Amino acid sequence: MKKPTSAYVHIPFCTQICYYCDFSKVFIQNQPVDDYLRALVREFKSYDIHQLRTLYMGGGTPTAITAEQLDYVLTELTKELDISMLEEFTIEANPGDLDADKIAVLKNSAVNRVSLGVQTFNNKHLKRIGRSHNERQIYESIDSLKAAGFDNISIDLIYALPGQTMADVKENVAKALALDIPHLSLYSLILEHHTVFMNKMRRGKLNLPTEDLEAEMFDYIIAELKAAGFEHYEIANFAKLDPKRDFKSQHNLVYWDNAEYFGVGAGASGYLEGVRYRNRGPIQHYLKSVAEGNARLSEEVLTKNEMMEEEFFLGLRKKSGISISRFETKFGVTLEQQYGQVVRDLLAEELIQIEGDQLRMTQKGLFLGDTVAERFILEEDDE
Ligand code: SF4
Repeated sequence: MKKPTSAYVHIPFCTQICYYCDFSKVFIQNQPVDDYLRALVREFKSYDIHQLRTLYMGGGTPTAITAEQLDYVLTELTKELDISMLEEFTIEANPGDLDADKIAVLKNSAVNRVSLGVQTFNNKHLKRIGRSHNERQIYESIDSLKAAGFDNISIDLIYALPGQTMADVKENVAKALALDIPHLSLYSLILEHHTVFMNKMRRGKLNLPTEDLEAEMFDYIIAELKAAGFEHYEIANFAKLDPKRDFKSQHNLVYWDNAEYFGVGAGASGYLEGVRYRNRGPIQHYLKSVAEGNARLSEEVLTKNEMMEEEFFLGLRKKSGISISRFETKFGVTLEQQYGQVVRDLLAEELIQIEGDQLRMTQKGLFLGDTVAERFILEEDDE
């Protein structure tokens, strides 16, 4: 079987714990970071990976570790790779963490894309969501990255934050555009279990924007970014249109295309040979399991029905949607046989549209996102 050409590598350490976050992460102080990085490299090498098209180092916060540690892990991961094959190597970073030494390490590595967790430019809101950076540090990080030669920079912003108004969102969008970078991700705040925000919500202490205001914010963001020359290519993602270069996140497209990838690190997920797996976490459990030669906590062999559901669940996130002929060839069924009634219903509700071979969500559908995609979940599995 052909090996995947994408890999995700997880660095679970953070210098702060944000109030909305349910990712697999841990406060960095007193953690065995060196041991973790050695285990991570060992797990990565166990897959005998020599050719990758995309590599993504996420977290946590990869830039929470020292420049020396960063150098070690970036060097080790790419040592046996054919670098000429590697089109995109993204690292996630936080504005407060990127000092001159770390930027020098990134510049000397194979990293060619940086995704910065900005979230908002508003200092009051940054504090309110538990972030430790401020607006000035955002500009400093972008300027230093550009000065070091990085031209493929993305930032994450969150909207529908507690207490956020439409005017706040407009200010954030304007400041993001003024950075003159080619990629933006804008997520609405999702309340996750076991977060500070969820606790506050339960106690009635989280003043969230109404759903109508959130929809207005979403519409505003799309209109404004389109007018500024960005393509809205996935529910939350926008890439600058450039005739010479494709600035879409090539790695994330692998997920949305429902393709396979290696997932390495504590709590990381991967998809190999039809198996979706999840690695052990927290750190100590991960270290022990790598030492024993198997980092995995769970494995799930997908049924054909589950694969078809995922094809829709992930593919509908893309503005281009799903190729009907690709779906029919891949699964040996017609769209009509499998999803005839669902498709007719969603078309009637104006949540999806079909143009030629592509089935995609309308703007109304994109706002509802997963609620629409869930309609493609089949009632019974074929096992
Ligand atoms: S949002 Fe990012 S920086 Fe904040 S706690 Fe979660 S992983 Fe760490």
